[in-house]
Amino acid sequence: MTERVAIVTGAARGIGAAIARRLASDGHAVAVVDLDEAATSETVEAIRAAGGRAVGVGADVADETLVASAIERVVAELGAPTILVNNAGILRDNLLFKMTADDWDAVLGVHLRGAFLMTKAVQAHMVDAGWGRIVNLSSTSALGNRGQANYAAAKAGMQGFTKTLAIELGRFGVTANAIAPGFIVTEMTASTARRVGMEPDDFFALMAKEIPVGRAGEPDDIAAVASFFVREEASFTNGQVIYVAGGPRA
Ligand code: NAP
Repeated sequence: MTERVAIVTGAARGIGAAIARRLASDGHAVAVVDLDEAATSETVEAIRAAGGRAVGVGADVADETLVASAIERVVAELGAPTILVNNAGILRDNLLFKMTADDWDAVLGVHLRGAFLMTKAVQAHMVDAGWGRIVNLSSTSALGNRGQANYAAAKAGMQGFTKTLAIELGRFGVTANAIAPGFIVTEMTASTARRVGMEPDDFFALMAKEIPVGRAGEPDDIAAVASFFVREEASFTNGQVIYVAGGPRA
């Protein structure tokens, strides 16, 4: 496989870390972007220990200035990026009547503004190369989920954003696709467990009962689909959303 330079946001842990490790094992150099640069060291070290190339870059994806300097660093330290995985995400769950405008802005800011800023900054390198792969993290919550008006709107928005990128950038050899995970075991879902007063393991077991394959998802389940989307042979797969949820519904 041709070595490309990939950027994975929110890759210090969870799904982003699994995608970063998987793309590195597929032969790509990987920029591990997260809010706190120190937090990226575990993912970066794991990639290097396995013989891959990686750098950790601290940046808030919702901050245009920090995004620009993060991309400059990636270009200087790894080369021009032509794979982008917009994975960084946060939750600020609450029922609509209790949700604040700050909860709304924070969630749309990281997911949608963050994906927009990162993609706008990286697409120029993809267009120059005549090749690119964009993978955006949506969610089954895009179909609607109690307590997640902000997150559901952001994750549905990621799908419209992805399809528009596919239409605009396809002619430049750039594809854009989205993954909509179901319930995946990460710190994000562990914090949801604690918020509703449950032990994470009990919560995971409870959620698994509703999933047709009889288990909760793991970050590597998502990384496998990201790995497919960025392959050379996926060049005709464009503007798609794959639900990776252990079954057909959320
Ligand atoms: P996670 O464990 O909470 O990891 C998210 C990472 O993103 C954290 O390292 C976080 O840093 C980072 N981050 C947050 N805001 C950021 C920002 N503004 N700039 C850069 N990095 C930022 O989450 P996850 O479960 O792996 O989820 C990854 C993605 O999959 C998210 O987009 C999520 O919405 C989506 N997803 C997850 C599930 C699931 O069940 N887990 C299901 C569907 C979709 P801090 O720790 O410093 O905040």
